[in-house]
Amino acid sequence: MRLDPRAMRYLTAEDFRVLAAVETGSRNHEVVPTPLIVQLSGLRGGSGVHKCISTLAKNNLIAREKNVKYDGYRLTYGGFDYLALNTYQKQKAVYSVGNRIGVGKESDIVVVAGPDGTQRILKIHRLGRISFRSVKKNRDYLGRRSTGSWMYMSRLAAIKEFTFMKALHQHGFPVPEPISQNRHTIVMSLVDAFPLHQIATVADPASLYADLMALILRLARYGLIHGDFNEFNILIKEEPVSGSKDKDGQEEEVRLVPVIIDFPQMVSIDHPNAEFYFDRDVECIKRYFQRRYHFTSDEPGPFFSEAKEAFLKNPGKRLDVEVEASGFSRKMAKELEKYMKELGVDGDRGGERDDLDDDDESEEEVEEGEGENDGNANESEGRDVNDTAEKLEDLRVSASS
Ligand code: ADP
Ligand code: MG
Repeated sequence: MRLDPRAMRYLTAEDFRVLAAVETGSRNHEVVPTPLIVQLSGLRGGSGVHKCISTLAKNNLIAREKNVKYDGYRLTYGGFDYLALNTYQKQKAVYSVGNRIGVGKESDIVVVAGPDGTQRILKIHRLGRISFRSVKKNRDYLGRRSTGSWMYMSRLAAIKEFTFMKALHQHGFPVPEPISQNRHTIVMSLVDAFPLHQIATVADPASLYADLMALILRLARYGLIHGDFNEFNILIKEEPVSGSKDKDGQEEEVRLVPVIIDFPQMVSIDHPNAEFYFDRDVECIKRYFQRRYHFTSDEPGPFFSEAKEAFLKNPGKRLDVEVEASGFSRKMAKELEKYMKELGVDGDRGGERDDLDDDDESEEEVEEGEGENDGNANESEGRDVNDTAEKLEDLRVSASS
């Protein structure tokens, strides 16, 4: 689904209270009975609440369920997005919303602006959005609270990504600056760079290759394996090499500096499949450099055994342990991993990509007008991020009171 922020500014504080009531009710009701919504909203006078309910339903933020014994509503993806946006707006983390620049299988990437107009990135996790086939297959496992589990698991993915990004950022890793996290979303700084897969030629592939392998090893020394280290999740900044000026005084040489993104698949170096993930990350880069830049390194490896040895002999601070302490527990990690496995989620890898031209759209999606599916996993839409400034949709809402 596409985030459409236009209704944000027309919603009142009461509308948001009722929306939040539906969210609360969703924790233990797949369909939240209307009387419960009234009660949870804490608003006096039922008629006011009913008016809010109808506004929310009209804007597809909640959806009426007719085929149940009782009359009720469930929160839609759009409603969940709005609750997060409303929180960011109050925190002053997001002032306006611009274009969607990326759509992956499990996320939407949207340009937003902060208080001073600086552009930021809003990443909305949508775990389970695409792989409905697998969701249906796994209905038993997911139980009858599929709305609840979608919301919960997407939130776990956001918490995981934010917690790792924060730890990496604090330890000087080249990652976006984490700004805020709410529900299934995070806000981070925008990296003004192209992903590696859009870079057709590299002047010195050996040096970029060495930098990337060094990054994999440095992560391992801090106890981490990225798990989805590939040309879509590496952004390449061009930094001028100081002192290299041509005769007109223009900076001549540029250095390619990688920035890593996309952390929901990160694992600890102690993970039972750590070696598999490590090797896969290394292989991915090797293969890409051969195929795209016709570059093959003379050096074998790096190998997991070396990485592990270096880690044991001279560990960096253990970030895998640090994130557990700072809000992403081992239990959460296990739950998320299990769910992603059930859904067949495997990062930017091609395996499940056929699900994108899904002939098997969920009824839920169609009902909410969310069936739109661009089929371009990881392709950017209107990649020029600087273009989006004028198109930012102001969020200023009456509900901010
Ligand atoms: P997914 O989990 O769907 O793969 P990513 O976090 O990898 O999501 O983001 C998808 C794409 O969005 C990236 O390949 C990149 O082009 C763009 N993107 C994501 N985060 C940023 C950022 N902080 N700055 C600039 N572009 C970004
Ligand atoms: Mg990605």
